Amino acid sequence: MDGINNSMKKLSMIAIDGPAASGKSTLAFRLARSLSYLYFDTGLMYRAVTWLALDRHLDIKDEDAIVRLAEQTPIDVSAPSLDDGRPCDVIVEGRDITWEIRKLEVDANVSAVSAYAGVRKALTVQQRRIGLRGKVVMVGRDIGTVVLPDADLKIYLDASAEERARRRYQEILDRGGEADYEVILRKVIERDYLDSTRAIAPLKPADDAIILDSDQMDADTVFETAFDLCK
Ligand code: C5P
Repeated sequence: MDGINNSMKKLSMIAIDGPAASGKSTLAFRLARSLSYLYFDTGLMYRAVTWLALDRHLDIKDEDAIVRLAEQTPIDVSAPSLDDGRPCDVIVEGRDITWEIRKLEVDANVSAVSAYAGVRKALTVQQRRIGLRGKVVMVGRDIGTVVLPDADLKIYLDASAEERARRRYQEILDRGGEADYEVILRKVIERDYLDSTRAIAPLKPADDAIILDSDQMDADTVFETAFDLCK
């Protein structure tokens, strides 16, 4: 009986990892909706801690203070309450920070925050608890390698830095903002470097991950390929 339960549980954990702006959140969101699974983006937890540290004017280099923040701050993630393109609500201390955590200042500091062992420990425990309930599509950098190593399907979604920067650039323009492609490209490369060279849980495909390269595939093709893998 235990064996059956275990295998049922395993069958319902899908891990999607990949570098910044590879399209993994879009893919995970669509997969979760098609399967009626929970969509859970772990990046927003690292972003929420980073946003709060910046909001409190903490020194990002002050590891102890940042770790305390990660340990003590409940990050509330729930179904979207507004129809403004958000995949979920992110609430911290009663404040809706769903869009705040997407700002460039957070982008620029989140890799330093996520490299702290204490921050990763605090957030990984919460992520694992949510993941092990099953019926979840979890997205991040270390889901297949560290958070849910027993996930039954692991996808690593890759794309060249140029293509990812181009998509991020277009996204900003589409939302009516202004952007400089070269600056975005530099930042994407910088974040890749920090995320993949850190000592703990670096960005890398799990040995048993299926690697999809989205340079040559549009979002629909990526989704259809991943959906076929779920079957
Ligand atoms: O996916 P997203 O770009 O929102 O992630 C923001 C940052 O959070 C990443 O650049 C990385 O530093 C960190 N992160 C992480 N582990 C995860 C998810 C995100 O270290 N599982």
